[in-house]
Amino acid sequence: MAEVQLRHIDKRWGDFVGVKDFDLTIPDKEFLVLLGPSGCGKTTTMRMIAGLEEATDGEILIGGKVVNDLEPKDRDVAMVFQSYALYPNMNVYENIRFPLKVRNIAPDTHDEKVRRAAEMVELTQFLHRKPADLSGGQRQRVALARAIVREPNVFLMDEPLSNLDAKLRVSTRAQIKNLSHELQVTTIYVTHDQIEAMTLADRVVVMNAGVVQQVGTPTEIYNYPANTFVASFIGSPAMNLVRGNVYKGTFTAENISISGLNSDVEGEVILGFRAEDAIVAANQAATNGVGADVFSIELLGEATMITVKVGDALIAVKADKEYSTDIGKPFFAEIPAAICHLFDAKSGDRIS
Ligand code: ATP
Repeated sequence: MAEVQLRHIDKRWGDFVGVKDFDLTIPDKEFLVLLGPSGCGKTTTMRMIAGLEEATDGEILIGGKVVNDLEPKDRDVAMVFQSYALYPNMNVYENIRFPLKVRNIAPDTHDEKVRRAAEMVELTQFLHRKPADLSGGQRQRVALARAIVREPNVFLMDEPLSNLDAKLRVSTRAQIKNLSHELQVTTIYVTHDQIEAMTLADRVVVMNAGVVQQVGTPTEIYNYPANTFVASFIGSPAMNLVRGNVYKGTFTAENISISGLNSDVEGEVILGFRAEDAIVAANQAATNGVGADVFSIELLGEATMITVKVGDALIAVKADKEYSTDIGKPFFAEIPAAICHLFDAKSGDRIS
């Protein structure tokens, strides 16, 4: 049982607040992803759980036990970093075995444990190679095997895929997902890549400037972003956000009008909708649509992304792959009221 509890955790260096009031329970076996832009406090949060950084305030519990004063080695957590930190003079077998040696695990169990971990990450045929003779992806798998072999209560992974090229990142991501399903160990995973977060997580924590913005399943975060920060951070492209005015359920901004919004709010708001939820139309819709000149055209393979300019905002609409137009030509899309999100113009918080 390795539930991890973070109770009102703060991290400050002098006046600078790195993490503010992080308060969350991570149930046993959950795969939790900390997501946010560079400098938002993800790594600091993880390092506090590992014991590499001391929390300024708050309590950290692992398996029901307060661990604030425990050394990293006594917390029963295994970390995987973006730099693989392998021992260059040891072969793969010895690298994977290393944590068993330093923990004084009975030597007669080592061989079986090392081979099982190597098998899980498909490294059996490389056991005698030195790290220098492996590809980046294989080295990262050695680092994973070295974490697995310890059979820890909690895995902490800090951007483990960020040194891999795009293709390898996708296949190693699938491997981590499969491993976590097999191992069923509580995992806290840090990334700034929203696709990684969405594909791996049971729950995602979106952070900005040291503050948790939203905690939810990938679907919740995608469909009901709590504020404009989350809306603009999740999804590719990010959610379209347009500033305008709403009156009696009708939103208007330059080149956009949408009626039938389910909200009593009046005045300035930010309207959000996703590129794939708008519907390309042949003509200007009487209501509920956008009409503007084409600003850019991107061929995505499975679709064509059309961008138009509305005031200061760029609005993306996903058209099908056969759609053909030119920059500067008029473009129309229907934006059904039901797919729209409204956010407060000042705070950015979700209204409806
Ligand atoms: P990245 O994705 O770039 O790794 P991150 O979200 O993991 O970013 P952190 O490394 O947690 O960010 O850093 C959070 C903030 O705390 C940053 O502004 C960073 O400069 C600051 N910070 C980190 N360590 C220290 C330190 N020892 N002293 C002062 N400030 C620090």
